[in-house]
Amino acid sequence: MKFQCLGGFQEVGRNAVLLETGSERLLLDYGMKVEEQEIPIQPKGFIDATLLTHPHLDHSGMVPTLKAPLYSTAAALDQARLLLLDAIKVGKIKGQPERFKTEDVERLKENRVTYGQQFEIGRALVDVFDSGHVPGSAGFLLDAHGKTIFYSGDFRLSRTRLLNGARFNLKNIDLLFTETTYAFKEHSPREDVEKKLIELVKETLERNGTALIPTFAVGRAAELLMVLDSYGIKYPIFLDGMAKQATEISLRYPELLRDHKALQKAVEEVVPLYSNADREMALKKPSVIITTSGMLSGGPVIHFLKKIYGDPNSSLIFTGFQVPDTPGRVLMDTGHYIDEESKIDLEVKMNVKYLDFSAHAGRTELLEFINGISPQKVVCMHGDRTKDFAEELKGKGFDAIAPGNGDEFEI
Ligand SMILES: [Zn+2]
Ligand SMILES: [Zn+2]
Repeated sequence: MKFQCLGGFQEVGRNAVLLETGSERLLLDYGMKVEEQEIPIQPKGFIDATLLTHPHLDHSGMVPTLKAPLYSTAAALDQARLLLLDAIKVGKIKGQPERFKTEDVERLKENRVTYGQQFEIGRALVDVFDSGHVPGSAGFLLDAHGKTIFYSGDFRLSRTRLLNGARFNLKNIDLLFTETTYAFKEHSPREDVEKKLIELVKETLERNGTALIPTFAVGRAAELLMVLDSYGIKYPIFLDGMAKQATEISLRYPELLRDHKALQKAVEEVVPLYSNADREMALKKPSVIITTSGMLSGGPVIHFLKKIYGDPNSSLIFTGFQVPDTPGRVLMDTGHYIDEESKIDLEVKMNVKYLDFSAHAGRTELLEFINGISPQKVVCMHGDRTKDFAEELKGKGFDAIAPGNGDEFEI
């Protein structure tokens, strides 16, 4: 048995692992770095199946280029379709190379699986676990030829208002592929982050400003709506962009949510925005606007930003990590919103804040997770400091590695 590192090693952004069990050739995620347009190494030869952990494009972005059957939860597939179709649209606007077409996204050979399910691909047995990252996200346990391999995808152990947190039940693992996004960072307790959000929103509304909240479509928008509703924010709350459809999809799978009634109630309070006329209306009075994209790389958030960037009474509240070189990160670092293609450079006078609503395990959770499983071997991936983390794990007695893309290993 062997595996090949195709992408997402010593980096974040294009997860892909080829696992050759001896009888099957399985692909674990097949993502891409959207900003940089970087794709994984292409696997050579026939692929029996692709297992997709969740819809984020760093895991799903190149899946439509594959012909193999695709295994994922129904919610993850629905959300992946939404993001992939949007990626085609955005790619056209930005003049990026077309890697797949709408038909390829629609024609994915899907196999919908559920948490707790066990299924076979050839002679390999696969178990599906809730990874607590976004609705429908999964970690996969593979059992083939006497070896057990767990591929975590992205995960979070502790619960949020939206999700229960990962439910991994793992023993005697030979090989663990783990994400390590926050191997060297702790997250503040979610309750504190929620309170900070409410404080910022209230202050903004009291100043008669607009609280503009850029957000990731999948999961995060729904969580923010639930937080605002549970603290009784009664001002108009507007929802715009892909966050609308993504939240609708989450509601279709109540069994994946911690409290789907609370989300349903929060959504009922919200006013969706569809047109620029709607958006003008939304800006007339103090309000909260939740909209994509989360890192200001497109979407209706730009429309709003262009209108209110000079208003010191309004706030711009980031609710997720801003990847280096994205417009969101540039704004946080320089105070300017810069769109080089359109030659736009705006000095943002709004109250700009970042809140850490992470959907990933923080450092303590990650160590807890690895200690709890105590696998024979740990492969660190999906992180900027995988080598440092593998060294640290070695110091704790683990057989840990942080391979690079292209590396191959016998199991
Ligand atoms: Zn993710
Ligand atoms: Zn990821």
